[in-house]
Amino acid sequence: MAKKFLIPLAATILFTGLTPAVGQADQVSNVQKEIDRIKKESQAAKGKISAINQQINSVQAQQQSTKEDIMSIDLKMNETQAKIQELDKKIEETTASLKEAAKQLQEAIIRVEKRDKLLKTRVSAIYEAGDISYLEVLLGSQDFSDFLERLDAVKSIVDQDVTILEDNKRDRDIIAEKKKQIEEQLKSLKAMQAEAQQLADQLEAQKQERERILKELEKQEGELLEIKEEQEKASLELVNQLQAKIEEQRRAEEERRRASSSDAGSWSPPPVHSGGQFVQPVSGRISSPFGYRVHPILHTRKFHDGTDFAAPQGTPIYAAAEGVVASAGYMNGYGNTVVIYHGNGLSTLYGHIRHGGIVVSEGQSVSAGQKIAEVGSTGRSTGPHLHFTVIKNGQKVDPMSYLR
Ligand SMILES: [Zn+2]
Repeated sequence: MAKKFLIPLAATILFTGLTPAVGQADQVSNVQKEIDRIKKESQAAKGKISAINQQINSVQAQQQSTKEDIMSIDLKMNETQAKIQELDKKIEETTASLKEAAKQLQEAIIRVEKRDKLLKTRVSAIYEAGDISYLEVLLGSQDFSDFLERLDAVKSIVDQDVTILEDNKRDRDIIAEKKKQIEEQLKSLKAMQAEAQQLADQLEAQKQERERILKELEKQEGELLEIKEEQEKASLELVNQLQAKIEEQRRAEEERRRASSSDAGSWSPPPVHSGGQFVQPVSGRISSPFGYRVHPILHTRKFHDGTDFAAPQGTPIYAAAEGVVASAGYMNGYGNTVVIYHGNGLSTLYGHIRHGGIVVSEGQSVSAGQKIAEVGSTGRSTGPHLHFTVIKNGQKVDPMSYLR
């Protein structure tokens, strides 16, 4: 993973205009140097966070395209599957029709065979009788009534022979037609089976392609998790730096106050949170609590580092306790964010503030319940809500233990 960050130069110096009294000037300037150092460090941390953000965006864009690839291959696979089903149905129909044609062919052959046999026995009977023709039968009649009887008999034999011959001709036509039909159907069946094989191969290739893409997606997920962990560390680092900066500023003010007795009493030290209950930062129901949660679809465990309060866009957000604004601006996945330091290593973070919704600035002292911002949906957010994180000595803790 590339780790290139921009380190912005020249951080603005907060207390440059002040001139401490001689004797304590060195101490004050040392504190000021420390503040400047921390400021540079936090600028670097901010740069690091924004570089990580770019990485996250790029991996997420890759993921989006990978997901689209999966969708497109799923659609292709559906198509192939539908073609295979259609073909299977056709093959089944052709096979049934082929079986029926074969049965009809067999029956026609049997019928012809039977008739041929009948004709043969009749012909051989005539031969056995000594080459007697129909005419001879008629000429051999005793009298006219005998002649009529014989004529009737001969006529019926002739009729039967004609019927047999005609039936045979019809059946022979059927045989020829069925043979041709079977030949054609066998040919098309063969073609269909080849096509089915081709489609099955295609489906298998698509399956393998899908597996490959899924693995790619998994890799990207892992990468993203890694980057996010890094981002998490960087943003905590930043909050710690901001806390240290405020502590240093407090010390600087105290030194300065001791140095110049003239304006004693005009300065009050930044407030320190006594450890009591917080003010509710926004009015809204809890939509997602602090802690691990399982993604409903992906079934992946994810750590949620704060409490989410669902509230309409523009709802006022209040400082949970008195303190100093340590940071006010865009911060990684939290979007527009305010961080307030309450002293004693305790900070609160308010995320997803609407564009233009921050009403305090860095270094400003705020009292408990003072409006600091308005609810929005900036950063990684799906709808307007306040993401509220409590940081105690560099650890993210459950905000509810301060709110109940
Ligand atoms: Zn949240």
